[in-house]
Amino acid sequence: MTVTRETLPAVAGGQPVRSQFLVFGAPLIGEEEIQEVVDTLRSGWIGFGPKSLRFEEEFARYVRAKHGVSVGSCTAGLHLSLIASGIGPGDEVITTPLTFAATANVIEHVGARPVFVDVDRETQNIDPARIEAAITPRTRAIMPVHMAGRPCDMDAISDIADRHGLTVIEDAAHAVEAAWRGKKIGSISKFTVFSFYATKNMTTAEGGMITTNDDAAAERLRILRLHGISKDAWKRYSASGFTPYEAVEPGYKYNLTDLQSSLGLHQLRRIEANLTIRRRHWRAYDAGFADLPAIETPAPARPEERHAGHLYTILLRPERLTIDREQFIEALRAENIGSGIHFTPVHLHAYYRKRYGYRPGDFPNAEEIGSRTVSLPLSAKLTDEDVQDVIAAVRKVVTHYAR
Ligand SMILES: *Cc1c(COP(=O)(O)O)cnc(C)c1O
Repeated sequence: MTVTRETLPAVAGGQPVRSQFLVFGAPLIGEEEIQEVVDTLRSGWIGFGPKSLRFEEEFARYVRAKHGVSVGSCTAGLHLSLIASGIGPGDEVITTPLTFAATANVIEHVGARPVFVDVDRETQNIDPARIEAAITPRTRAIMPVHMAGRPCDMDAISDIADRHGLTVIEDAAHAVEAAWRGKKIGSISKFTVFSFYATKNMTTAEGGMITTNDDAAAERLRILRLHGISKDAWKRYSASGFTPYEAVEPGYKYNLTDLQSSLGLHQLRRIEANLTIRRRHWRAYDAGFADLPAIETPAPARPEERHAGHLYTILLRPERLTIDREQFIEALRAENIGSGIHFTPVHLHAYYRKRYGYRPGDFPNAEEIGSRTVSLPLSAKLTDEDVQDVIAAVRKVVTHYAR
């Protein structure tokens, strides 16, 4: 092959495929969000209030849950769900190592022990067939993560939880639009927690939502997320008059604000339209990489699952390349394409190695995925031209460095 300026990677001195850096996970913010934020700013009520309550109702309706309890982040929501489940020191919570550190960190926050169970190589989700072997008399809950937006097998997980009397707390940070056998994620387990972080499928910059069908749990969460004071205490400066309040327990400052909910209300209205756009980008990537032996594309969705299409993760085949994953990411960056890694398995993070003695080799599937995975930009903000740039950059790099 002759090396021209078009085929020479920028990292080796060639021309980048584009001149402007493509930010990984840039959100699509519409004029409606901007107007709503301005309206909130002018209203005199920017903290937790009527817009957040409306957002909770509309979100719960979308995921077909009875209650939505808004919180400052998915992390805060997971933490509160553990507290509301009565989980504390001496308890164990089963989760996946292939997740963001927050999933395990919150288990540490309540003084419990995260017990990791390896993932399925295809779905990248916690492998239900391995869960029962990890259950001990101290196990209290299972925290599955719907990796990249692909729903876990919630029939298998709910069945195990029921048989062992465990609470299920779903980390649905990637999975607002997902469903398992026609059941929306958010409507199935005692607690499901969503993230509205800047890079997620919908965003309030920072934010999250807990959904539950349990009236008492919803009530407790509403108290816990706002200082442990009675549930309408946020009205204490409103026109409805001073509401007396008292702390019934030492709660947290974990509320969302109306400023953030202004974004959420309109992000939610466009959630399905944005998924349609990301599905188009997804298909373009599948077609663009189909003939590249150095790249494994995501496994197709199974008939039982509605995939929320949060992350398009490719797996590099190291034996087919002369560069490693970090060099590949650096080469993409030189082409002005941002990318991500989801995830470095949590058991290999410094804290978890030190605290529990975890070592490489403990969870081989998660480690193999964690060492080979690269997430390509998939935001609804991307144009078809942006997606073609990503494809061109990936093709150029893997072709040049093919072994
Ligand atoms: C982003 C993310 C979180 C944390 O969400 P925040 O809203 O930032 O707290 C938790 N779990 C997973 C799997 C995530 O990707």
